[in-house]
Amino acid sequence: MDAVSEPARGESFVLEPRALQALLDAIVAEGYQIRGPLVRDHAVCLDEVTRVEQLPVGWTDEQEGGHYRLTRRGGSALFGCGVGQDSWKRLLHRPLALLWSAERDDGGLALSEPHEEPARFAFFGVRPCDLAAINIQDGILAAGRYPDPFYRARRQGLLTVVANCTSAGGTCFCASMGTGPRAESGFDLALTELWPDTANHALLVETGSDAGTRLLAAVPRRPAGDPERREADEATRRAVEQMGRRLDTSDIHGMLMGNLEHPRWAEVARRCLACGNCTLVCPTCFCTNFEDGGDLELRHAERTRRWDSCFTLGFTRLHGGPVRRKIRSRYRQWMTHKLATWFDQFGTSGCVGCGRCITWCPVGIDLTEESAAIRASDGRSGR
Ligand code: SF4
Ligand code: SF4
Repeated sequence: MDAVSEPARGESFVLEPRALQALLDAIVAEGYQIRGPLVRDHAVCLDEVTRVEQLPVGWTDEQEGGHYRLTRRGGSALFGCGVGQDSWKRLLHRPLALLWSAERDDGGLALSEPHEEPARFAFFGVRPCDLAAINIQDGILAAGRYPDPFYRARRQGLLTVVANCTSAGGTCFCASMGTGPRAESGFDLALTELWPDTANHALLVETGSDAGTRLLAAVPRRPAGDPERREADEATRRAVEQMGRRLDTSDIHGMLMGNLEHPRWAEVARRCLACGNCTLVCPTCFCTNFEDGGDLELRHAERTRRWDSCFTLGFTRLHGGPVRRKIRSRYRQWMTHKLATWFDQFGTSGCVGCGRCITWCPVGIDLTEESAAIRASDGRSGR
């Protein structure tokens, strides 16, 4: 393995699994705080990772509507688990943020706003669907007329190391959404795991930026050849075949918006608990609410911002009460926003096909199934 000649951007290399530690060390040496997948509380969570052994080595997951289990697959696969309930959203768009606080004393009122220090995060093992979700949130929270300073402070120094998917979860449908299972761009480095559990176990690494290329200079590697590139293509193609769900996106905007009174909305509302799990686990949902608090002596006051969900009754409360009183209208709002009106608002789909909302819905409601049911009895005239 060669660690001397300089790698060039756009090239691909092969790393032996043990070289991954050198990559983690190089990322830390550049001053990044690495966040990556690890097993905690019987699920894959995202937290600080500095050692290869912290990754979910030898684990896999079962995912179905309302069902998630980690199981031991054995062997040495580093990226054998799909996405868990956690997402990178939690790190970039924090669930709870203090916006300002005020202290009153005999001299008057002192107002302070927290200053968000720019973070230097390296997200390691980002799945392609989640990379697409970060790009969607960038367009909403980092760009536009009203960028969010908290999000921007964490996003601007971000390094992303993608793990392309070589096996697919039971609820994934990224192939339908054009977001995976292989990332084409927008990353610093992209890894594809090859031949796990064999003597040839290796990682194909593609460079996508100068920062990623620079990191590889310190990592033992060799140039990728045709066999590795072919296997990476094959492995991601197999993942597409395994994908547990698909979504027909043809004219999905017209199909959903032309069926706002379809009886299926009432049917799904009979099952939906309006718990909001689907929005909280979704890597693109970004809605928040503001809460004011203070102490009983009226000396301290503060305003916080907290993730909210379009499934809560209070989400649409106006002076006359909530606008969406029925669960039917809340579910319809959520699904039509994700799959249709998001295009009007932001120019993309609001769904990347990660499958989290299906897996983590306590009653197993599945937006691919709901969409297919509406399409199957499309109420638009002439269909
Ligand atoms: S709507 Fe569901 S499948 Fe789509 S991105 Fe959100 S959680 Fe993932
Ligand atoms: S669809 Fe499922 S996860 Fe979403 S609010 Fe309804 S019950 Fe909760």
